[in-house]
Amino acid sequence: MKRGKTNIEKSLRDMLGPGLKLDEPMARHTTIGVGGRSRFFALPRSSRCVASLIRLASANRVPCMIIGRGSNLIVRDGGFDGLIIKLGSNFSAVKVHKRTVFAQAGASLSGLASRLVKMGRPGLEFAVGIPGSVGGGVWMNAGAYGGEIAHVLSRMTIIDRSGAVRTIRPKQRGFGYRQSNLPRGSVILTASFLCPPGGLNRKILQLSRRRKRTQPLEFRSFGCAFVNPPGEHAGRLIEGCGLKGTRIGGAVISEKHANFILNIGPDTKTSHIEDLIRLARQAVKETYGIILKPEVVIVGNP
Ligand SMILES: Cc1cc2nc3c(=O)[nH]c(=O)nc-3n(C[C@H](O)[C@H](O)[C@H](O)COP(=O)(O)OP(=O)(O)OC[C@H]3O[C@@H](n4cnc5c(N)ncnc54)[C@H](O)[C@@H]3O)c2cc1C
Repeated sequence: MKRGKTNIEKSLRDMLGPGLKLDEPMARHTTIGVGGRSRFFALPRSSRCVASLIRLASANRVPCMIIGRGSNLIVRDGGFDGLIIKLGSNFSAVKVHKRTVFAQAGASLSGLASRLVKMGRPGLEFAVGIPGSVGGGVWMNAGAYGGEIAHVLSRMTIIDRSGAVRTIRPKQRGFGYRQSNLPRGSVILTASFLCPPGGLNRKILQLSRRRKRTQPLEFRSFGCAFVNPPGEHAGRLIEGCGLKGTRIGGAVISEKHANFILNIGPDTKTSHIEDLIRLARQAVKETYGIILKPEVVIVGNP
């Protein structure tokens, strides 16, 4: 970091007031419920404040990242030596128009999807039950059962690394499987989805509502640990290696769905989870010659 810790802390305090937390345990902000601390943790109240934070971090070379609901995230035990900005309830407005739906990045993706389903507006049925935010969903191009965010995303506003607000039409950027390819370091502020009234996809909706049957939702997790390789299911490959139920410390590979790693405690460390990730990758590589790519975002120091 270019400037001293105290200088940066003072600037952050001036911008955020009580919205600044120091050495915040990230276990509180991730669905897996473990993880190190973030040196600076910001809960901004406005887009302008987010832009100022991005500029401050960039000018002082402070590592900076944005999070939503932490449902696809691990912060390693050694913590994040920088600034984590959470877009939470201050960024949760949703407006339903005639053909489109506008949402701020901190809105609940599943909540939005359920609301649209109730209104008979198709497009986001697949997202019922995905526990992330709209911003996280766009960044990850969240999807399930053949549906994905990119299919319905019509527009978004972002803050780029220089702190400038820009409007982007998603076709300008290639969205891939669980990735958005947005410029690195950019912050998604809002997203608009094309969801005109019409017939709901009942099959997808049924599958979304049946997640409990196939996924270990009674435990803490970050959803799927790995993306599915082309034409395959990561869970099937891990199961094929006989790893269901394998436990390291307080983490275990789910018996119900082998692509889920669960925090069952006690005293779970992110290193236990990473060890299971390594073990599964190694076993699948040796058994099938396939290299699994993690879906979960892992940050911080070991
Ligand atoms: C039980 C369970 C089931 C799940 N099922 C699915 C599923 O079916 N399909 C699926 O795709 N995912 C699934 N997930 C994973 C997760 O919910 C999604 O990836 C979700 O979209 C992540 O959103 P988030 O707000 O939690 O993102 P976070 O975990 O907070 O962040 C994930 C990434 O997105 C970035 N990010 C977050 N917000 C922003 C923003 N506003 N601007 C820029 N970058 C941002 C972060 O920097 C990070 O790189 C599941 C997770 C759980 C726990």
